[in-house]
Amino acid sequence: MINQDRLIQTFCDLVQIDSPSGQEEEISKDLTNRLTKLGFQVSLDSYGNLIASEGGDNPFMLSAHMDTVEPGTGIIPKIESDKIISTSKTILGGDCKAGISAILEALESLKEDSADRIPIEVVFTREEELGLQGAANLDFSKIHSKEAIVFDGEGAPNEIITISPTYFSFDITIEGRAAHAGVDPENGISSIHIAAELISKLPQGRLDHETTFNIGTIQGGNVRNSVPKDTIINGEFRSPNIETLDGLKMQVTDAVNQVKTKYKEANVDNEIYTNFHAYKIENDNPLAIRIASAIKSLGLKPKTKYSGGGSDANIFREKGINSVVVGMADHNMHTLSEYVTISELISAAKLCEILIKK
Ligand SMILES: [Zn+2]
Repeated sequence: MINQDRLIQTFCDLVQIDSPSGQEEEISKDLTNRLTKLGFQVSLDSYGNLIASEGGDNPFMLSAHMDTVEPGTGIIPKIESDKIISTSKTILGGDCKAGISAILEALESLKEDSADRIPIEVVFTREEELGLQGAANLDFSKIHSKEAIVFDGEGAPNEIITISPTYFSFDITIEGRAAHAGVDPENGISSIHIAAELISKLPQGRLDHETTFNIGTIQGGNVRNSVPKDTIINGEFRSPNIETLDGLKMQVTDAVNQVKTKYKEANVDNEIYTNFHAYKIENDNPLAIRIASAIKSLGLKPKTKYSGGGSDANIFREKGINSVVVGMADHNMHTLSEYVTISELISAAKLCEILIKK
């Protein structure tokens, strides 16, 4: 049976192991121990993703990611009635340790009850928060599952993500010309000035109900009294709509071309990358149907929703694994006011248990 105290303890233990993206060694050791005790063969692929297998035909994948966003070191969790919050000036780390805890508790519960379950593969990835790097580098030759549930959604576990966007990132580099700002400004070409002009031609924020655009960083200049030679702009945009995405790509390219034409002596370059592709889970998706009926059996109402964020499921789906993301009881993700709702965390563990129990 799902054990509330054990589940909360596991969660609180896991969030106290620092694991910002790129520093997952300690958490992966801890999870290796836990999964080994549960009877799995645990290995890390060459990228450091954790894969736990147990043989058996047609395994089902349970997945979550090990890394957390910053500020995420020195997390001190605290229980306040039905919530777990962080008392330190950090995120809580419920993204994605709520998901990991729910998976571990489901496995623990079935083992304790000596209940039969289907063969499982557990995949805990690294660097999800860096643009799905772990999943993109996952050794899929070690994976045998054709279906996966990914515990990485915001909100309650009855929320199933059925639409996820395509994500484009772009880097614009502007090379102007340095000159003394007071003595010889006529000879300079300010890359910061060009960047400002370029950015003013680009959209910002939510563009429609499923499309967003953001300039995330701008780095330029190195000293106050010099006309700045180099500036780099990093941005991203996302939408599930291909026409909208094409339009935005064109807008970025046009803005770059306009400043190129105006500032002929500057070098302005733009690279656009596709980080992951959109997906839509149709109503007749067999896994989504099984998940919805498991949610109903918990007395909850399944809800489908659009998520503007990507997850490892975007990559798994590209690799042909029918993957569905559900909520893992985490709220206000990636902020200092993040919290996990205990009753929802229990439902997440129960949902996982129902799905894998024979
Ligand atoms: Zn996450």
